[in-house]
Amino acid sequence: MLKLSGGSMMSIEKFIRASDIAIINYLGRRNPSITDNENYFYFNRGSALTVVAHLDTVRKAGKVELINDNGVLSNKNGILGADDRAGIFLLSKAFKMDCNILVTNYEETGGKGVSKFVKDYPEACSGTKFFIELDRQGIDNYVTYTELPTSYKLILETLDFKEEYGSFSDITILSGHYLVPSINIGVGYYNQHTAKEYLDLQDLARAGRNLKLLLRTKWQHEKITKALDYDSYGYEFDDSYGYEFDDVLYDELDLYGITDDFQKIKDKIINSDKLRRLIESEILNLVT
Ligand SMILES: [Zn+2]
Repeated sequence: MLKLSGGSMMSIEKFIRASDIAIINYLGRRNPSITDNENYFYFNRGSALTVVAHLDTVRKAGKVELINDNGVLSNKNGILGADDRAGIFLLSKAFKMDCNILVTNYEETGGKGVSKFVKDYPEACSGTKFFIELDRQGIDNYVTYTELPTSYKLILETLDFKEEYGSFSDITILSGHYLVPSINIGVGYYNQHTAKEYLDLQDLARAGRNLKLLLRTKWQHEKITKALDYDSYGYEFDDSYGYEFDDVLYDELDLYGITDDFQKIKDKIINSDKLRRLIESEILNLVT
């Protein structure tokens, strides 16, 4: 089996094809601050923001044969697994950004990896004030499973994120444990958990731009008082298996070639009445 290397030429295709074990080995080589080498890989980088994604997929065993139809990726043999390898791919880029990184396993089977993380190391993310998860279908959207402070909602609205509603994900457990806000944002996959799953590479690139935007925003860091009840969600156990992937290198998606017009967004925020009032009271501002 080909090993994932830590080089800069790792393509989204490679992250999608990789077995869980290959991803685990890749993360291990990046020297996590805390890991049990299976359920969680936490990279504490001294930030107040922690970005989260899960390495497991609901894909069945079997060879992945990728089809790239005009920038839309799918798997000829069924479930693509961009949920959540798209998130893992973006996290691999986040090593260049100002954030802590948490990769979990077994999200698809009820958040077992993240549950073990908070049990084994209940204080590990005590410096985190906001969790941002990369594990959502679509693009330019977010869901929250907790109370979200009004100022956060206003910022997200101004940044053109649309609020949607979704079921359980890992941040449900993290927000409940630490009582800090969290959001899960769209990373460009669609029809996840079905044979019709696909990943739009333009949307993936835009998700990279969205992540940068969120990490460059100065949040006021409010606490929350409670997380939503997630006990009522039920999950079917659906194992995923490793498989081999071939050694084809694709050009890396150019997340950093996209023009990030931060000044334009900053102007827009300053021109928003509601946000201006908040900014004037020095509750928040956008860092560029
Ligand atoms: Zn997922």
